[in-house]
Amino acid sequence: MVEWLAEVAARVAGLSVHHGIYLAGFAVVFIAIESLWPANPDQPRWREGAGTDLALSFLNPLIIWPINAFLVAAFINYLIATIGWETHRALREAVAAQPYWIEFAAALLVGDFFSYWKHRVFHMRWLWPIHSVHHATTEVDWLTNDRDHPLQLAGTYLFVLTGLAVAGFSNEMIATQALVRRAYSLYTHANVPWGHGPLRLILVSPTMHRWHHASDDRVIDRNYATMFSFFDIVFGSYVDPAGLPRAFGVPGETPPSSLMDALRRPFHSYRESLVGRRAVTVTVPVGEAPAGRSAVS
Ligand SMILES: [Zn+2]
Ligand SMILES: [Zn+2]
Repeated sequence: MVEWLAEVAARVAGLSVHHGIYLAGFAVVFIAIESLWPANPDQPRWREGAGTDLALSFLNPLIIWPINAFLVAAFINYLIATIGWETHRALREAVAAQPYWIEFAAALLVGDFFSYWKHRVFHMRWLWPIHSVHHATTEVDWLTNDRDHPLQLAGTYLFVLTGLAVAGFSNEMIATQALVRRAYSLYTHANVPWGHGPLRLILVSPTMHRWHHASDDRVIDRNYATMFSFFDIVFGSYVDPAGLPRAFGVPGETPPSSLMDALRRPFHSYRESLVGRRAVTVTVPVGEAPAGRSAVS
Protein backbone atom coordinates (compact mmCIF):
# COMPACT_ATOMS: atom_id res chain seq x y z
CA MET A 1 0.00 0.00 0.00
CA VAL A 2 2.76 2.43 0.98
CA GLU A 3 4.71 1.48 -2.15
CA TRP A 4 1.64 2.00 -4.31
CA LEU A 5 0.98 5.41 -2.76
CA ALA A 6 4.63 6.38 -3.29
CA GLU A 7 4.34 5.28 -6.91
CA VAL A 8 1.18 7.35 -7.41
CA ALA A 9 2.78 10.39 -5.72
CA ALA A 10 5.85 10.07 -7.95
CA ARG A 11 3.65 9.82 -11.04
CA VAL A 12 1.59 12.85 -9.97
CA ALA A 13 4.77 14.87 -9.29
CA GLY A 14 6.23 13.77 -12.63
CA LEU A 15 3.09 14.72 -14.52
CA SER A 16 2.94 18.12 -12.79
CA VAL A 17 6.60 18.94 -13.47
CA HIS A 18 6.28 17.81 -17.07
CA HIS A 19 3.13 19.90 -17.52
CA GLY A 20 4.75 22.91 -15.82
CA ILE A 21 7.70 22.86 -18.24
CA TYR A 22 5.36 22.40 -21.21
CA LEU A 23 3.15 25.30 -20.11
CA ALA A 24 6.09 27.59 -19.27
CA GLY A 25 7.40 27.17 -22.81
CA PHE A 26 4.07 28.19 -24.29
CA ALA A 27 3.74 31.06 -21.77
CA VAL A 28 6.94 32.64 -23.11
CA VAL A 29 5.68 32.49 -26.70
CA PHE A 30 2.11 33.64 -26.10
CA ILE A 31 2.86 36.37 -23.56
CA ALA A 32 5.34 37.76 -26.11
CA ILE A 33 2.90 37.79 -29.05
CA GLU A 34 0.00 39.06 -26.92
CA SER A 35 2.21 41.91 -25.69
CA LEU A 36 3.39 42.82 -29.19
CA TRP A 37 0.06 42.47 -31.06
CA PRO A 38 -2.83 42.61 -28.55
CA ALA A 39 -6.38 42.36 -29.89
CA ASN A 40 -7.46 44.15 -26.73
CA PRO A 41 -4.57 46.29 -25.42
CA ASP A 42 -6.53 47.15 -22.26
CA GLN A 43 -6.80 43.53 -21.16
CA PRO A 44 -4.62 42.98 -18.08
CA ARG A 45 -1.87 40.38 -18.31
CA TRP A 46 -3.20 38.65 -15.19
CA ARG A 47 -6.90 38.88 -15.96
CA GLU A 48 -9.86 37.79 -13.89
CA GLY A 49 -10.16 34.00 -13.83
CA ALA A 50 -6.54 33.37 -14.85
CA GLY A 51 -5.79 31.68 -11.50
CA THR A 52 -8.66 29.22 -12.04
CA ASP A 53 -7.48 28.55 -15.60
CA LEU A 54 -3.96 27.84 -14.39
CA ALA A 55 -5.21 25.57 -11.58
CA LEU A 56 -7.41 23.61 -14.03
CA SER A 57 -4.47 23.34 -16.40
CA PHE A 58 -2.53 21.42 -13.73
CA LEU A 59 -5.48 19.61 -12.16
CA ASN A 60 -6.94 18.15 -15.36
CA PRO A 61 -3.99 15.94 -16.39
CA LEU A 62 -4.02 14.42 -12.89
CA ILE A 63 -7.76 13.70 -13.02
CA ILE A 64 -7.67 12.53 -16.61
CA TRP A 65 -4.82 10.09 -16.12
CA PRO A 66 -6.87 7.40 -14.29
CA ILE A 67 -9.97 8.12 -16.43
CA ASN A 68 -7.88 7.59 -19.54
CA ALA A 69 -6.26 4.45 -18.18
CA PHE A 70 -9.53 2.75 -17.23
CA LEU A 71 -12.71 4.30 -18.64
CA VAL A 72 -11.40 5.38 -22.05
CA ALA A 73 -9.37 2.20 -22.53
CA ALA A 74 -12.44 0.09 -21.68
CA PHE A 75 -14.60 2.09 -24.09
CA ILE A 76 -12.03 1.69 -26.89
CA ASN A 77 -11.86 -2.05 -26.27
CA TYR A 78 -15.64 -2.29 -26.32
CA LEU A 79 -15.92 -0.41 -29.63
CA ILE A 80 -13.15 -2.42 -31.28
CA ALA A 81 -14.75 -5.67 -30.11
CA THR A 82 -18.00 -4.44 -31.66
CA ILE A 83 -16.46 -3.89 -35.10
CA GLY A 84 -14.29 -7.01 -34.75
CA TRP A 85 -10.61 -7.32 -33.74
CA GLU A 86 -9.59 -8.70 -37.14
CA THR A 87 -11.26 -5.83 -39.01
CA HIS A 88 -9.57 -3.37 -36.70
CA ARG A 89 -6.16 -5.02 -37.14
CA ALA A 90 -6.52 -4.68 -40.93
CA LEU A 91 -7.47 -1.01 -40.44
CA ARG A 92 -4.42 -0.36 -38.25
CA GLU A 93 -2.13 -2.03 -40.77
CA ALA A 94 -3.60 0.04 -43.63
CA VAL A 95 -3.07 3.27 -41.65
CA ALA A 96 0.48 2.28 -40.63
CA ALA A 97 1.36 1.50 -44.27
CA GLN A 98 0.90 5.16 -45.24
CA PRO A 99 3.84 7.60 -45.40
CA TYR A 100 4.36 9.35 -42.04
CA TRP A 101 3.20 12.80 -43.19
CA ILE A 102 0.02 11.44 -44.75
CA GLU A 103 -0.75 9.53 -41.57
CA PHE A 104 0.01 12.66 -39.52
CA ALA A 105 -2.22 14.90 -41.68
CA ALA A 106 -4.99 12.29 -41.56
CA ALA A 107 -4.71 12.09 -37.76
CA LEU A 108 -5.08 15.88 -37.50
CA LEU A 109 -8.10 15.81 -39.80
CA VAL A 110 -9.82 12.88 -38.10
CA GLY A 111 -8.97 14.25 -34.64
CA ASP A 112 -10.39 17.66 -35.54
CA PHE A 113 -13.51 16.07 -37.03
CA PHE A 114 -14.29 14.24 -33.78
CA SER A 115 -13.29 17.34 -31.80
CA TYR A 116 -15.72 19.48 -33.86
CA TRP A 117 -18.65 17.22 -33.02
CA LYS A 118 -17.57 16.83 -29.41
CA HIS A 119 -17.56 20.62 -29.08
CA ARG A 120 -20.91 20.95 -30.84
CA VAL A 121 -22.50 18.34 -28.58
CA PHE A 122 -21.14 20.17 -25.51
CA HIS A 123 -23.06 23.24 -26.66
CA MET A 124 -26.32 21.30 -26.45
CA ARG A 125 -28.59 21.97 -23.51
CA TRP A 126 -27.76 18.91 -21.45
CA LEU A 127 -23.97 19.27 -21.65
CA TRP A 128 -23.78 23.07 -21.73
CA PRO A 129 -23.47 23.44 -17.90
CA ILE A 130 -20.13 21.58 -18.14
CA HIS A 131 -18.83 23.48 -21.17
CA SER A 132 -20.02 26.87 -19.88
CA VAL A 133 -17.08 26.80 -17.45
CA HIS A 134 -14.81 27.25 -20.50
CA HIS A 135 -16.92 30.18 -21.74
CA ALA A 136 -17.38 31.89 -18.39
CA THR A 137 -14.50 34.38 -18.43
CA THR A 138 -15.18 37.93 -19.59
CA GLU A 139 -11.65 38.22 -21.00
CA VAL A 140 -9.97 35.66 -23.24
CA ASP A 141 -6.31 34.85 -23.75
CA TRP A 142 -4.11 31.84 -24.53
CA LEU A 143 -4.58 30.34 -21.05
CA THR A 144 -8.38 30.28 -21.50
CA ASN A 145 -7.74 27.20 -23.63
CA ASP A 146 -6.94 25.20 -20.49
CA ARG A 147 -10.08 26.32 -18.69
CA ASP A 148 -11.97 23.06 -19.04
CA HIS A 149 -14.07 21.34 -16.40
CA PRO A 150 -12.62 17.84 -15.80
CA LEU A 151 -15.89 16.32 -17.05
CA GLN A 152 -15.42 18.14 -20.32
CA LEU A 153 -11.92 16.75 -20.70
CA ALA A 154 -13.25 13.27 -19.96
CA GLY A 155 -15.79 13.82 -22.74
CA THR A 156 -13.02 14.99 -25.05
CA TYR A 157 -11.06 11.83 -24.42
CA LEU A 158 -14.12 9.64 -24.90
CA PHE A 159 -15.03 11.34 -28.19
CA VAL A 160 -11.69 12.15 -29.77
CA LEU A 161 -9.26 9.51 -28.51
CA THR A 162 -11.69 6.67 -29.03
CA GLY A 163 -12.53 7.98 -32.50
CA LEU A 164 -8.88 8.02 -33.51
CA ALA A 165 -8.13 4.67 -31.87
CA VAL A 166 -11.05 2.94 -33.54
CA ALA A 167 -10.09 4.57 -36.87
CA GLY A 168 -6.80 2.65 -36.65
CA PHE A 169 -4.25 5.30 -35.62
CA SER A 170 -1.34 4.23 -33.41
CA ASN A 171 -1.04 5.45 -29.82
CA GLU A 172 2.03 7.50 -30.81
CA MET A 173 0.15 9.23 -33.63
CA ILE A 174 -2.86 9.89 -31.37
CA ALA A 175 -0.53 11.52 -28.81
CA THR A 176 1.22 13.55 -31.54
CA GLN A 177 -2.00 14.94 -33.01
CA ALA A 178 -3.22 15.77 -29.48
CA LEU A 179 -0.07 17.78 -28.76
CA VAL A 180 -0.21 19.64 -32.07
CA ARG A 181 -3.94 20.40 -31.88
CA ARG A 182 -3.63 21.51 -28.26
CA ALA A 183 -0.79 23.89 -29.14
CA TYR A 184 -2.93 25.20 -32.00
CA SER A 185 -5.86 25.68 -29.63
CA LEU A 186 -3.67 27.71 -27.24
CA TYR A 187 -2.86 29.91 -30.26
CA THR A 188 -6.51 30.43 -31.30
CA HIS A 189 -7.37 31.60 -27.77
CA ALA A 190 -4.56 34.19 -27.76
CA ASN A 191 -5.40 37.86 -27.36
CA VAL A 192 -4.19 38.72 -30.87
CA PRO A 193 -6.23 40.23 -33.75
CA TRP A 194 -5.18 37.82 -36.47
CA GLY A 195 -7.86 36.69 -38.92
CA HIS A 196 -5.71 34.69 -41.38
CA GLY A 197 -7.00 36.45 -44.53
CA PRO A 198 -8.14 33.93 -47.16
CA LEU A 199 -6.51 31.15 -45.13
CA ARG A 200 -9.34 31.58 -42.59
CA LEU A 201 -11.42 29.28 -44.80
CA ILE A 202 -8.99 26.44 -44.03
CA LEU A 203 -7.37 27.20 -40.67
CA VAL A 204 -9.17 28.53 -37.59
CA SER A 205 -7.85 31.97 -36.66
CA PRO A 206 -7.65 33.58 -33.20
CA THR A 207 -10.32 36.05 -34.38
CA MET A 208 -12.63 33.21 -35.37
CA HIS A 209 -12.34 31.51 -31.98
CA ARG A 210 -12.62 34.78 -30.10
CA TRP A 211 -15.99 35.23 -31.81
CA HIS A 212 -16.90 31.79 -30.47
CA HIS A 213 -16.37 33.21 -26.97
CA ALA A 214 -18.21 36.47 -27.68
CA SER A 215 -21.27 37.29 -25.55
CA ASP A 216 -23.18 38.29 -28.65
CA ASP A 217 -26.39 36.49 -29.56
CA ARG A 218 -25.60 36.82 -33.30
CA VAL A 219 -22.67 34.45 -32.98
CA ILE A 220 -23.81 32.08 -30.27
CA ASP A 221 -23.22 28.37 -30.98
CA ARG A 222 -20.87 28.95 -33.95
CA ASN A 223 -17.22 28.28 -34.86
CA TYR A 224 -16.72 24.93 -33.13
CA ALA A 225 -13.61 23.71 -34.96
CA THR A 226 -10.25 23.67 -33.21
CA MET A 227 -7.97 23.67 -36.24
CA PHE A 228 -9.77 23.32 -39.57
CA SER A 229 -12.43 25.97 -40.17
CA PHE A 230 -13.83 24.10 -43.17
CA PHE A 231 -15.61 21.76 -40.74
CA ASP A 232 -17.66 24.77 -39.61
CA ILE A 233 -18.26 25.77 -43.23
CA VAL A 234 -19.31 22.25 -44.27
CA PHE A 235 -21.54 21.69 -41.23
CA GLY A 236 -23.13 25.16 -41.36
CA SER A 237 -21.73 26.70 -38.18
CA TYR A 238 -19.20 29.14 -39.63
CA VAL A 239 -19.41 32.78 -38.65
CA ASP A 240 -16.99 35.55 -39.52
CA PRO A 241 -18.23 39.05 -38.66
CA ALA A 242 -15.95 41.96 -39.41
CA GLY A 243 -13.98 43.52 -36.61
CA LEU A 244 -13.26 42.03 -33.23
CA PRO A 245 -15.64 41.00 -30.45
CA ARG A 246 -15.90 43.56 -27.69
CA ALA A 247 -17.21 41.40 -24.85
CA PHE A 248 -16.90 37.77 -23.81
CA GLY A 249 -18.58 35.38 -21.42
CA VAL A 250 -21.99 33.83 -20.90
CA PRO A 251 -24.82 36.37 -21.02
CA GLY A 252 -26.78 36.44 -17.79
CA GLU A 253 -24.26 34.39 -15.80
CA THR A 254 -21.64 35.50 -13.30
CA PRO A 255 -18.23 33.86 -13.88
CA PRO A 256 -17.18 31.36 -11.16
CA SER A 257 -15.34 33.16 -8.40
CA SER A 258 -12.80 30.41 -7.67
CA LEU A 259 -11.56 26.99 -8.74
CA MET A 260 -14.00 25.27 -6.38
CA ASP A 261 -16.85 27.39 -7.73
CA ALA A 262 -15.89 26.41 -11.29
CA LEU A 263 -15.76 22.71 -10.35
CA ARG A 264 -19.14 22.85 -8.60
CA ARG A 265 -20.90 25.13 -11.08
CA PRO A 266 -22.20 22.44 -13.51
CA PHE A 267 -23.65 20.42 -10.64
CA HIS A 268 -25.37 23.51 -9.26
CA SER A 269 -26.72 24.24 -12.73
CA TYR A 270 -28.09 20.73 -13.16
CA ARG A 271 -29.61 20.76 -9.70
CA GLU A 272 -31.26 24.10 -10.11
CA SER A 273 -32.14 23.48 -13.76
CA LEU A 274 -30.42 26.71 -14.68
CA VAL A 275 -29.72 25.73 -18.26
CA GLY A 276 -31.86 28.40 -19.86
CA ARG A 277 -28.95 30.23 -21.51
CA ARG A 278 -30.82 30.44 -24.76
CA ALA A 279 -33.71 32.21 -23.07
CA VAL A 280 -31.33 35.04 -22.19
CA THR A 281 -30.58 37.43 -25.02
CA VAL A 282 -28.02 40.12 -24.36
CA THR A 283 -26.78 41.93 -27.43
CA VAL A 284 -23.37 43.52 -27.30
CA PRO A 285 -22.41 45.95 -30.07
CA VAL A 286 -19.94 44.60 -32.57
CA GLY A 287 -18.04 46.24 -35.41
CA GLU A 288 -19.68 47.26 -38.65
CA ALA A 289 -19.58 44.48 -41.24
CA PRO A 290 -18.28 45.59 -44.64
CA ALA A 291 -20.05 44.19 -47.68
CA GLY A 292 -19.19 40.61 -48.48
CA ARG A 293 -17.46 39.87 -45.18
CA SER A 294 -20.31 39.30 -42.78
CA ALA A 295 -21.12 35.62 -42.80
CA VAL A 296 -23.45 35.30 -39.87
CA SER A 297 -25.51 32.34 -40.91
ZN1 LIG B 1 -17.58 26.31 -26.93
ZN1 LIG C 1 -12.39 28.28 -26.40
